[in-house]
Amino acid sequence: MLEVKGLSAAYGQHPSLNEVSLSIAPGEIVVILGANGAGKSTLLRAIAGICEGKVSGEVRLGPDALTGLSPDEIVEKGVVLVPEGRGIFGDLSVKENLLLGAYPARARDSERENLDRVLELFPTLRERQGQVARTMSGGEQQMLAIGRAMMSAPEILMLDEPSLGLAPLLCKELFQNLAQVKSLGIGVLLVEQNAKQSLAIADRGYLLENTRIIHEDTAARLAGDPAVQKAYLGGGGQGSSASATPAPEPSPMPAAPAIAARPQPQRSADQQAGLSISDLVAKAAHQSASAPRQAPADVSTAADRLANDRLTVVMKDIEESARAARHRPTRAANPAPARPQAPRPQQTVRPPVIEVYRRPRVEVYRRRPSGKFERE
Ligand code: ATP
Repeated sequence: MLEVKGLSAAYGQHPSLNEVSLSIAPGEIVVILGANGAGKSTLLRAIAGICEGKVSGEVRLGPDALTGLSPDEIVEKGVVLVPEGRGIFGDLSVKENLLLGAYPARARDSERENLDRVLELFPTLRERQGQVARTMSGGEQQMLAIGRAMMSAPEILMLDEPSLGLAPLLCKELFQNLAQVKSLGIGVLLVEQNAKQSLAIADRGYLLENTRIIHEDTAARLAGDPAVQKAYLGGGGQGSSASATPAPEPSPMPAAPAIAARPQPQRSADQQAGLSISDLVAKAAHQSASAPRQAPADVSTAADRLANDRLTVVMKDIEESARAARHRPTRAANPAPARPQAPRPQQTVRPPVIEVYRRPRVEVYRRRPSGKFERE
């Protein structure tokens, strides 16, 4: 059983998670629903030990405290995260990616059985074992990411928006796969915006709003809740058991709105403004075409100024030489003392700086048997 108690996280002064408590039992699928920016990814990253912000609170897996452990120690304990964007090694083959997942000591002895289990769960991966991972489709890559996580023999599998960017048919297949993962006794903590399909396979769910859990219920009851339907399933329900939840404690963030009053996700702002994507593209193109070309104008002004200054210097030189030639004494005469050179105008404009983009440097570290990392 994974238990999270009073987990908070902040990036600098910006709180992203406030006193979140939840639990996941073995073989249970728990879904976290919430709007963009509610703190869902931060929650998973804080549990996995990879949150860049300051984290406080308690995370336990059975008798083991996970708080303060490094990410690899947390994987060793049995909690693994499939991050948003999958994080597979694109240049390695499917099989190499899977075998890398078996790196934790807890999984090394059972590598063969785990591989068989994963290939049984995802038959596509069996057929594609030798294929370079980046050449696979988005759905296949997502399966690979989940398969690789399962190679670490986890007790708890966390997934951050696994259905993102997948076609509806692939989404359906993905959620069926997760139901199979559950049947293996693995607890699944799922962050999803696809509320309909995730609630269909989940046992329980939590609603995360403005960094706080505001409601918890069985997946079936959440799916039938008119307020949840309105907020997350595109329905038009009225009232809510969720909205009857006691108001959360005061927070430095704006108070969490009741579900019934929750505004539509921000991504529909263009629709709210009555603009379709193509309207927006056309509008942007028009603005771009009609906007004064400030930057190029600046550049040419600077270049013109530079050219003018150079021309002035050259002209002064020519005039100076002509004047000197006119007054040059004959060879017979005493040579006049050398005329002091007229000071040249100071070159005040520097040549434009041309930025050079460097290739990123790649450093490879190897972990020694002592546990220390050394640069290769
Ligand atoms: P989404 O569904 O859009 O992925 P989310 O619910 O997963 O959103 P988080 O990614 O957890 O939200 O972000 C919660 C808040 O924390 C946001 O306001 C975000 O801008 C902020 N945040 C997240 N990561 C960082 C970071 N590394 N540094 C600073 N702020 C961050």
